[in-house]
Amino acid sequence: MASTRLIVALDTDTPSAAIRVAKATTDDAYAFKIGWPLLLDAGIGIIKSISEFGNVICDLKIADIPNTNSAIARRVKDAGAWGIIAHAFTGTDSLSAIVSSSSPMKVFAVAAMSHPGSSEFINLVAIRLAKISEDAGSYGIVAPGNNPEMLIALRRATTRMKIISPGIGVQGGEASRALVDGADYVIVGRTICNSPDPHQEAARINLSIESAFKEQDKKA
Ligand code: C5P
Repeated sequence: MASTRLIVALDTDTPSAAIRVAKATTDDAYAFKIGWPLLLDAGIGIIKSISEFGNVICDLKIADIPNTNSAIARRVKDAGAWGIIAHAFTGTDSLSAIVSSSSPMKVFAVAAMSHPGSSEFINLVAIRLAKISEDAGSYGIVAPGNNPEMLIALRRATTRMKIISPGIGVQGGEASRALVDGADYVIVGRTICNSPDPHQEAARINLSIESAFKEQDKKA
């Protein structure tokens, strides 16, 4: 669904559950994010299977030398992914290699993370990582939706790149707040995947986003 700002992270225990959630939320999601556990369980063909229900972003958090990064990105692109997530801390050359090998696939670079341990190192250099992401030609960055100060600072640091934000729900963030703070899209995993009715949960999140924006428009 093009107008939604929701990316559903298909963090399920089995590939069949991931397909079930994708099918149920196809009209609610802008894209589906898949990660290592699902890829290891199902194999790379899962990208094509999930693509039947929407755009697929592969969250591999790639962090290697340029040559290896390119080789990974090419395989993910050939498998039909719409987007890929890589780390920015490996430097401009490593990230640029992914960008060059990925087109038209969108590259998102991790600028900051959402878990407590992120405060020990990676989030201390978030603004520098955003700069590396931009210099490398990334389409977007990943920034935490449960850390308003960080999200606002990263939004200020980049106007060109899209921001996609996890950390919503189980990790404490709130979808509409993250979008107001500067995210373009929010990523939600367990809150939707573990719900008895993933479609209803995704629709509820979309509704909360819509009403927050209507409220903001009224105030403006
Ligand atoms: O279940 P939950 O909504 O917390 O899932 C968030 C998803 O986003 C997970 O797939 C996690 O790996 C991913 N992610 C994150 N924080 C980052 C980058 C990715 O939570 N900084």
